[in-house]
Amino acid sequence: MNPADFNTLKSILKAEGFDFKKSLGQNFLIDSTVCPMMAQASCDEQTGVLEIGPGAGVLTAKLCDKAKKVVAIELDERLRPVLAKTLKDKTNVEIIFGDAMKLDLAGLIKEKFSDCKRVSVCANLPYYITSPMIMYLLESRLPIDNITVMVQKEAAERLCAKVGSREAGAVTVAVSYYSKGEILFEVKREAFMPSPNVDSAVIQLRIRKEPPVKVNHEEKFFRFVKACFAQRRKTLINTLASAMGANKARLREILSELGLPETVRSEQLDMNLLAEISNRLN
Ligand code: SAM
Repeated sequence: MNPADFNTLKSILKAEGFDFKKSLGQNFLIDSTVCPMMAQASCDEQTGVLEIGPGAGVLTAKLCDKAKKVVAIELDERLRPVLAKTLKDKTNVEIIFGDAMKLDLAGLIKEKFSDCKRVSVCANLPYYITSPMIMYLLESRLPIDNITVMVQKEAAERLCAKVGSREAGAVTVAVSYYSKGEILFEVKREAFMPSPNVDSAVIQLRIRKEPPVKVNHEEKFFRFVKACFAQRRKTLINTLASAMGANKARLREILSELGLPETVRSEQLDMNLLAEISNRLN
């Protein structure tokens, strides 16, 4: 069984009467070069891989060939008979049907991967939950080595941007706080069935052991960061005053202490400056 073969995959989906649900972000990979590259970047024979959204199992099969074990979480029960066919030759895979955003992933990793040297997360992520899913994975502080995922190209650029650049947003800061992000390669829209309206990219987030900056209070720091990027066109002082009711006089003082102009905008601040301003405000 080779589910990466387009005709085989098409005939299995047809035999099971499967139709794609846009609302679940169902764009399945059909380019035979992409899945092996993702598997190669994500894992080795000592790794346990948690896959989110196996779909018809094309990426899953490649992960099985490379990793020690694969546990894949799929929301759509209609894929049960499809996966039973496409993964019937694989002995190191378990499929769990459920919502990856609602499962206790830390508990799952502990239960399923205790015999693996390291754990990684790999997915061709459903586009409708890209950022919430990545944030859920990062904020859960899972004991994982890396997150290797396919996302829309624009999302990849934002997630892996340099904090302190025009492309950066609140999600960039969060990603940089928990991990080191990198765009591995781009994938054209024709690599999917059905083909989406945008191109994609595979990114890898290598989980940090320690955050790159010291913040006094993490929750307040992330609330501050969200406020910083709420109105990107405004100056930092005006954005913070309107988004979190910050005291303008105190903000002017802090900016002056740090040698920053009053007109500074959030996108000009690197991680150190964001942490420093947040710490002084709190
Ligand atoms: N991995 C397959 C591939 O690369 O061809 C399918 C990827 S498709 C972009 C996303 C998959 O995620 C779909 O199979 C969809 O049903 C599933 N999915 C959507 N929301 C999910 C959720 N909350 N939890 C788990 N799976 C989900």
